[in-house]
Amino acid sequence: MATYTCPRCQGTEIYFAKRERMTGLGGIYGNRSKMVRTPLCKACGEHVENDVNDNLFVFKVIGIVSIFVLAFLLILVLATS
Ligand SMILES: [Zn+2]
Repeated sequence: MATYTCPRCQGTEIYFAKRERMTGLGGIYGNRSKMVRTPLCKACGEHVENDVNDNLFVFKVIGIVSIFVLAFLLILVLATS
């Protein structure tokens, strides 16, 4: 469960609204945008971006775990050959 804090007023009261967002695929697909549920601050309307940070955190965890798995497999292959 993510907690949202406004970067402008530090408020924790947020609501969700549909906003257009670039998905940032780029490359051969070009830039795409889609309507996503976006957290906004109730007090000042600032766009609260904690969901993006959560996604980056998940990608970092997946990256670290996959490096450990690859290292483990490499050790296994070297030990059995
Ligand atoms: Zn705010």
